[in-house]
Amino acid sequence: MQRALDFAREGDATPGASPIGCVIVFEGKIVAEGHNEVGLRHDPTAHAEIVTIRRACEKLGRDDLRGATLYSTLQPCGMCTMASVWTSIGRVVYGAGRDHVHRMYFEDRHLDTMDFMRDAYRDDMALVGGVLKAECAALYYGPDDEPPREEQANT
Ligand SMILES: [Zn+2]
Repeated sequence: MQRALDFAREGDATPGASPIGCVIVFEGKIVAEGHNEVGLRHDPTAHAEIVTIRRACEKLGRDDLRGATLYSTLQPCGMCTMASVWTSIGRVVYGAGRDHVHRMYFEDRHLDTMDFMRDAYRDDMALVGGVLKAECAALYYGPDDEPPREEQANT
């Protein structure tokens, strides 16, 4: 998670990128790292998790990540959770949860990462939240902050 935080900070310092970092570990080694590149690529699907899943699959030369662990500084959104399900990732670990940050970081009102995972056919995925929660949450607007409207993707 510390490495994911490093990537989140790199994303924060990169014009067009955002401070969400992700690392994928497979067989005890980091196989891919990334941060949100939505503005950089003009690609609304270029969330940190998607970017990192693509890199990990390309590096490993496989289209599933069974047995791998995905670390993200922020609780994965629905799209990234489903991407994790589709790649058969073994474990998802996140830092700040949706209750610790502003609602602008999520596109749905009620569905949670756990809802997507609970409803998946797979029942062998693990989810762990709140790892380095304070450090991760410090990267984002808090629940009661009032971010500038132009920064809010879900409005
Ligand atoms: Zn996402």
